[in-house]
This record gives sequence, C-alpha cells and structure tokens, in this order.
Amino acid sequence: MLIAVELKGLLEPAQLEGLDVTWVAADQPTPKGDWVAIVPLLSRWVGGTELKILPKLRIVANCAVGYDNVDVVAAEMRKVIVTNTPDVLTDATADLTWALILACARRLVEAIDLVRSGRWTGWHPEQLLGTELRGRTLGLFGAGRIGQAVGRRAVPFGLRILYAARTPKPEFEHDTGAVRVEWARLLAESDILSLHAPSTPETKGIVNTETLGRMKPGAILVNTARGDLIREEALAIALEAGRLGAAGLDVYAEEPAILPRLAAAPRTVLLPHIGSATHHTRRKMAAIALANVQAVLRGEPPLTPVYR
Ligand code: NAP
Repeated sequence: MLIAVELKGLLEPAQLEGLDVTWVAADQPTPKGDWVAIVPLLSRWVGGTELKILPKLRIVANCAVGYDNVDVVAAEMRKVIVTNTPDVLTDATADLTWALILACARRLVEAIDLVRSGRWTGWHPEQLLGTELRGRTLGLFGAGRIGQAVGRRAVPFGLRILYAARTPKPEFEHDTGAVRVEWARLLAESDILSLHAPSTPETKGIVNTETLGRMKPGAILVNTARGDLIREEALAIALEAGRLGAAGLDVYAEEPAILPRLAAAPRTVLLPHIGSATHHTRRKMAAIALANVQAVLRGEPPLTPVYR
C-alpha cells in the first residue's frame, strides 16, 4: 500500500502491522502499480487517472474529514472505497475557528505587530479598539459536526446564533438557541460569518462579490472549511475598501499559494491550514485512516466510509 511519508511520525508500528508499505512524498506523483490501498494527503488529487494507474486499488483512506481531493463518483464506479476521519478533529477545528474569531474581533495581529515593532508607547484609551462579542450575531454556514461545535462555544460569549444548513438541527437549536435561516438572511444579519460546509459544486465560490456586498458593513468573515468557498480576489477588494471588518482564514483556494492581493489586504488573520493540528488529533486521524485500511484489507466494512 501507499502512505504519505509525511504521516510516518504520527503512526505506531502496530498500526502498520502486516502491511507492505511504500511511502510516497507529497511532491511525488502518484506511482503506477498494483497497490491495494492509498493514504494520501489532502494535496494529492485521486481522480480517474490515478484510479486507472492503480488498477488493484480497494481503498482511498483520506487523512482528513474533507475529501474534495478525491473523485468519489469515479471511485464508486470502480468500487474503490473512500474513507475520511470525521469526529476526531471536530474539537481541534472548532477551537481554531474560535482562535480566528477572537483574533479578528480583538485585532490580535495588529496588536502583536505593535509590541514586536517596539513602537508601542503605552496604554491609550482608543488604541486598537475591537468588536465586543456579547449581543452580536454569529452566522454559521454549515452546521454539521464542526459548525455545531463552533456554535456551542458561542453560548458563553453571549452571541446570538444563526445557521444555514440543508437540514434542521433541533438538538443544536434546543441547546444553543440557534435559529435556522436562509443563506440570504445569514449574510444580512451576521456580525461574524463562519464557514463550515464542505467544498462541493453548490458551495464553491458562495462568498463572492455579490454576497460580500450583502454582508453587514464591518462584519468578520472566518473560514476554516475549504478555501474555494470564497472568491479570494473579491474578498481582498472588500477588505481593501474597508467594507469588511476582518477576515480570518485557515484555508485557501490554491494551497499553499495565497493570492498576493489577499495576502497584502488589511485586517486579515491568515493561518497555514492548521485547523486539526494538535498532537492528539493528528495522531487520531492517522490511526483512523490506517484502521480503515486494515478493516478493508481484512474484508470487513470500513469504519468511516464517505459513501455507502
Ligand atoms: P459535516 O459534519 O459533514 O458538516 C457539513 C455541514 O455543511 C452540514 O451541516 C451540511 O448540511 C452543510 N452543507 C453541506 N452542503 C451545504 C449547502 N450546499 N448549503 C448549506 N449547508 C451545506 O462536516 P464537518 O465535519 O463539520 O466538516 C466541515 C468541513 O470542514 C469539511 O468538509 C472540511 O472541508 C472542513 N475542515 C477543515 C479543517 C481544517 O483544517 N481547516 C479541519 C476539518 C474540517 P446538512 O447537515 O444539512 O447535511
């Protein structure tokens, strides 16, 4: 089987027991051969061509909850199982989303830069004034595992919660007071809009010039989902114009490249896709990916398939 070499340090020998492993680096093209399983990084596209050069493949075990790097339809047609790593990364990603929300609301990047530059001259009543959270509205686009975890963390901050999802979430509503609304209302009423939907044909580019124009002036946009949900040029323009209060991003459309205009835009907090990056979570993700492979190779159903 093929495993991304970058995962080596996260795996225990017992998890690899009985497996004949070839390690493949992220910058190496997918090798042609009779491999039966692949554990790729998100940066590796596994589509029709890859499935063709891997004719014996039985499973693509993604080490992520998102699987937009896999052509799931092509895989299903070839009866190749696709698995992901849900749940174990929910808390880590929700925590990081909150780090971005707070960093944007309280202008942490500007504050850190001020201290580091040695230009800070002391406490000033009007220095780096930010946004108070209590009483404001948090809008969640997508309220699955991570969106709900972000929403639950919003309650003690005193935020009102709105969410948009394809299906209602009665338990989440009951526990948090969240209200399900249409996308248009989410845009119009959110002081903080946080994205938690997967990248699909329906969600790609959903934040664009037109929808940014419908957001509240001064609103904060946070994205720990997938970069291509946002049209980055449009976001950069909205930040330059001061229409948007701030943007906190962990993901980008063309990772690891960041659109230069966005990288240079004011009031951004830009992170290098570290949503799930805690020791604990990354080990669990690697363990689940390998457990899926082990199960399928034993002829058992996978633990966390993305289609049934
Ligand atoms: P999930 O449980 O599947 O939740 C996805 C949510 O998006 C669901 O509420 C779903 O609605 C909603 N949704 C899907 N399509 C929609 C549409 N067209 N309109 C409105 N809502 C839509 O997934 P999750 O575990 O929370 O993960 C969410 C995403 O976060 C992943 O897909 C991944 O891309 C990203 N992620 C990023 C990091 C990172 O490192 N930054 C880490 C983990 C995950 P329904 O509930 O009604 O189906």
